Amino acid sequence: MTQASLPFLPFVRPDIDEETIQGVADVLRSGWITTGPQNQAFEKQLSEFCGGRPVRTFNSGTATLEIGLRIAGVGAGDEVITSPASWVATSNVVLEVGATPVFVDIDPVTRNLDLNLLEKAITPRTKAIIPVYLAGLPVDMDRLYEIARAYKLRVIEDAAQAFGSTWRGERIGKLGDIVSFSFHANKNLTSIEGGALVLNNEEEAELARKYRLQGITRTGFDGMDCDLLGGKYNLTDVAARVGLGQLANFERFLSQRKALARAYFEGFTGGSAHQLGMGLPVADFENSNWHMFQITLPLEQLTLDRASFMKKLHDEYGIGTGVHYPAIHLFTLYRARGFAPGMFPHAERFGVSTVTLPLFTQMTEHDVARVCAAVNEICEQNRK
Ligand SMILES: *Cc1c(COP(=O)(O)O)cnc(C)c1O
Repeated sequence: MTQASLPFLPFVRPDIDEETIQGVADVLRSGWITTGPQNQAFEKQLSEFCGGRPVRTFNSGTATLEIGLRIAGVGAGDEVITSPASWVATSNVVLEVGATPVFVDIDPVTRNLDLNLLEKAITPRTKAIIPVYLAGLPVDMDRLYEIARAYKLRVIEDAAQAFGSTWRGERIGKLGDIVSFSFHANKNLTSIEGGALVLNNEEEAELARKYRLQGITRTGFDGMDCDLLGGKYNLTDVAARVGLGQLANFERFLSQRKALARAYFEGFTGGSAHQLGMGLPVADFENSNWHMFQITLPLEQLTLDRASFMKKLHDEYGIGTGVHYPAIHLFTLYRARGFAPGMFPHAERFGVSTVTLPLFTQMTEHDVARVCAAVNEICEQNRK
């Protein structure tokens, strides 16, 4: 059987069990479909997951980052340091609150902010850092918080991809300053769309609640006041029920992802693509939640570009892939603010050469072997 005759393998697919589907139907029949009891239960379980810290749900992991910045008091005139190798939401929110994004290049090995370059980027206007845990791999949290403390900077962790990742045996979200999770359909835990903020105290949690819904506070049967400019970022109960169903399966998700990632390393190590210089992620089986498995193509050794590589995988092998992510500073919106090619060479190189391979819980190790064989074959057949 040729590869192309096998069923199409997407790069991601959510894992929603029948119990969750039934639960969603129950919520739809209950008469309360937007923010209500399911959200309360979801926030409670998320809080337990994060060592008892206050958690507030939101309708996206973009809203959480933006409100996280607002709660930290970041606004006009402030600089926020972040990674150019991320989803554009990470720095768009900085612009959204009127502050200035300051990029620091990535470490080409971890693909995360290079903490060795962090201090050089700090100025008297720096107010906060947004570290990104790309593919679920955290940065060196000890080092990050050591620097943040020394310069009195707030940290809003973009842990959109790091739900279930750990640092020194503790889950991301349990430690640290403000932590932002996304529950987008492609993330390790999904509520279709959604997100959550982990906060430091009840005061911040109350601010999060207000920012989430028009800055409103209700009292008694008929009292209402608005004392802060909030937006409309609340999560529906239908979405929260999906999230609860995911939490019930989360340990299984984690162990399956780890096993699949291990299979990728076994399938690639020493193979022809690897020998040509294909890059692999850090094999961190302690801290990463294996949100994605991203290779970097050895483009100098190949006669085809990334788009052709992806098209071949798709058309000839029936394998879907993604790109996460082109360097943010090279987007038109950011070039118009003075960013240019050459400023962050590692993020730029990663941005043009990275390919995200299929990794989702319903995949088998046989599927992984199929992907590895296809990648090796394309590299062999198209080498210079
Ligand atoms: C998904 C993601 C976001 C945004 O989350 P949404 O829920 O899609 O708004 C932000 N940062 C990173 C790194 C992400 O992967």
